[in-house]
Amino acid sequence: MTRSQYLASLDDGRRIFADGREVRDLVNHPLFATAIKRVGDGYAAHHRSEGDASGPYFQIPYSRGELRGLLETLLEWDMVTVTTSQGLMALLTAAARMRSTYPEYATRIEAYFEYCRANDLRCVQAITDAKGDRKLSPGKQQDQDVYTRIVERRPDGIVVRGAKLHISSAAISHELIVMPTKNMKPGDEDWAVACAIPVNSPGVRIVNTNYAPMSRPQDFPHSSVDNTPEGFILLDDVFVPNERVFLAGETDHSATFAHALGLWERLGGTAHLVEIGDTLVGLAELIAEANGTERISHIREKIAEMVIYATLVRAGLEAAIANAEPSQEGWYFPSELFTNAAKHFGAAEFSKMVRHLHDIGGGAIVTAPSLADLEHDEVGPLIRKYMTAADGIDGEYRTRLFHAIRDYTADAFGGWQLVTMLQSGGGLYAQRLVARKHYDMEKAKQLGRKVAGLV
Ligand SMILES: Cc1cc2nc3c(=O)[nH]c(=O)nc-3n(C[C@H](O)[C@H](O)[C@H](O)COP(=O)(O)OP(=O)(O)OC[C@H]3O[C@@H](n4cnc5c(N)ncnc54)[C@H](O)[C@@H]3O)c2cc1C
Repeated sequence: MTRSQYLASLDDGRRIFADGREVRDLVNHPLFATAIKRVGDGYAAHHRSEGDASGPYFQIPYSRGELRGLLETLLEWDMVTVTTSQGLMALLTAAARMRSTYPEYATRIEAYFEYCRANDLRCVQAITDAKGDRKLSPGKQQDQDVYTRIVERRPDGIVVRGAKLHISSAAISHELIVMPTKNMKPGDEDWAVACAIPVNSPGVRIVNTNYAPMSRPQDFPHSSVDNTPEGFILLDDVFVPNERVFLAGETDHSATFAHALGLWERLGGTAHLVEIGDTLVGLAELIAEANGTERISHIREKIAEMVIYATLVRAGLEAAIANAEPSQEGWYFPSELFTNAAKHFGAAEFSKMVRHLHDIGGGAIVTAPSLADLEHDEVGPLIRKYMTAADGIDGEYRTRLFHAIRDYTADAFGGWQLVTMLQSGGGLYAQRLVARKHYDMEKAKQLGRKVAGLV
């Protein structure tokens, strides 16, 4: 698709809500315009006129080198293109794992992948349910809809009802890849449902939030140009034809999708964390130089700790790629152990790295006057004078650094990122579970026995 075809494709009768109103002009709405522009930029950059051309986000990695290449290019994509690649790779991974027991589902998933590729569609991963009372299983909930479920089975398809929460970029994509949020036990068959639903299907409504700044974009150098909505998706008796149903009651494979998505989402998250880690180091060093503190020992120590953090996250990503394994189909998926361990480490230590940056930077991270005040005839020159610290470093330059640090770590986007680090990819608990499952515990116990003189 070209950029204009993408923009036109969003005018398809979809029902989008934000700030208490239904959105009529999605493309020009301030909460969505920047994100849509970024996705449009991606369409424009990748468009080729040959009939069978397809974007790199539809590339299946057939070697470790191709897997690395995929991750490197992923860093340049907008969020919805990232979720498209991760969501489809997760579906293909699930297909590979289900093929021997449910070949029909594997065939449908592969046909769906081809459909998305051929039509250059963008997809989101709709996995997280509302979940109700967390200690109760789906069938025991007072409201049976808090986990998305099948409410009707017809010869030509199924009807689903429920909600999917926090779904990144849903409103500006084309397809919702719906998967069960967790393992379902026998008795919970109606909740073991995976399928693909076009965003404009009857019965779909998406209520949105976004950290996009509503004013003074110049004081939000990151979030004003890079933001995306999160969707609270309501699925109100949505019909799904059989060819788009990938699981409908087979509880033995209900967790296959969540595990497969967890792997690809955490791998992508780790790739982003590598860049985020280096960015935090860069901001810390720049603001220390601007403040004149870059040679003070405790500042150097903190920045060294941040360097070690960024480097270890990178090492974990490298190990996840180096230990990637081939699927039966011949394509490569990353190491479960290294992907989960690296993502967990990066996410769990992230807030400490932000603490170091705030500690190093100083209070002006949250109180620096706006750039508009710097332009004021009367007070502007005085603000520049008093915002100057280290010799030779301009007051405006230092003020801009403070705004960048606030925007990136201490304001709407910064707060979003702090929570997202912990919760995205299924949360830290899920990463600990998977890491433990794939760790060679027998070998570790054997070493313990050896030290204890028990062998
Ligand atoms: C910005 C953002 C974007 C996101 N994007 C997507 C997306 O695109 N697609 C998608 O599907 N999801 C997405 N998520 C959702 C994310 O995966 C969830 O937030 C995460 O899985 C936690 O679920 P929850 O928010 O419902 O919290 P809860 O499940 O309520 O978890 C809160 C805490 O309670 C613990 N807990 C809850 N229940 C149990 C239990 N039964 N046993 C043990 N511990 C428990 C959890 O481990 C966690 O520590 C996104 C989240 C954020 C913040």
